[in-house]
Amino acid sequence: MRATGRLHLGNYLGAIKGMLELQENPEYETLYMVADLHAITTPYKVEELRRNRKDLLIDYLAAGLDPKKSIIFYPSDVPEHMELAFYFSSVATIARMQHLPTYKDKVKQFPQDNSMALLNYPIQMAADIMAYKAELVPVGIDQEPHLEVAREIARKMNTQYGTDFPEPKRFATKGEYVPSLKGEGKMSKSVAGTYINVGDSFEEVQKKVRSIPTATVAGGEMSGGIKALFLLSELFIADSVPNYKKEFEVGSLQFSGMKDELAQAIFEQVKPIQEKRKKIEADPEYVTRVVKEGAQKARAIALATVTEVKKAMGLG
Ligand code: ADP
Repeated sequence: MRATGRLHLGNYLGAIKGMLELQENPEYETLYMVADLHAITTPYKVEELRRNRKDLLIDYLAAGLDPKKSIIFYPSDVPEHMELAFYFSSVATIARMQHLPTYKDKVKQFPQDNSMALLNYPIQMAADIMAYKAELVPVGIDQEPHLEVAREIARKMNTQYGTDFPEPKRFATKGEYVPSLKGEGKMSKSVAGTYINVGDSFEEVQKKVRSIPTATVAGGEMSGGIKALFLLSELFIADSVPNYKKEFEVGSLQFSGMKDELAQAIFEQVKPIQEKRKKIEADPEYVTRVVKEGAQKARAIALATVTEVKKAMGLG
């Protein structure tokens, strides 16, 4: 997850829930990073990045990532990520990177800042994954094109240099696509009015849920806002949804009651995370120790991969 702000429900349901599921499965060794290198691919303020990456790390811990079970780190502390990205860039073409939807969106958003770092973003992400020969990546559905790039790089490396990189797959959660509160597109921190933060108070959550546009039409085709309300309800108050659907169909649904039940359920899920966050914030040394130890463990694995790749490519 990029270190560009605090967690919203899309990040929590689409990514964090999957991270937790894999962490709790003893069959997997799990590594999770706060993507600080990726945060510098679009314009940013130094002080904000310093704060954001630490804030996101605390959010990870508050949401349940556990340094006893997972390796948790910043990739900027593991220079092997950048080294590997350079080697991988030799098997990736400029044309392929320029055609990615995420790249095109960002260029539209920041036409003056179309940097090499931005173009390289998917290669850096492939390095983040492949440094650990990771097989599963718990990310939302919007990241699928980037995973496709990682798979292509793995195949090319294996074919051209005889390495043994697995082709990484996305580990999907039930909330792989959390809709925007505006009823159009996905919930995203880069578009105001679309998201609910994990750190929001009950009043904020309620106000935002109440803002979902729900025109009072009797039955028939659902508007984008109503679809978003039902999608979110499936994720938080699934048991109540069949009844609300019936009421919608006959035109007797009171949206305000449905929205308030949803807001209550959302807040109940995020409240324990908020409480845990307060405790972690009170112990900054713990946070420093987590990433320091995380980086040491991550480096040992990443270095072994870099050594293998260098040898295979004729560089060592
Ligand atoms: P944003 O789009 O808000 O900037 P990021 O691009 O930093 O979020 O995404 C971080 C993680 O959260 C990624 O794994 C991404 O797939 C996931 N994610 C972001 N928005 C959503 C969403 N609306 N639904 C499901 N997953 C999401």
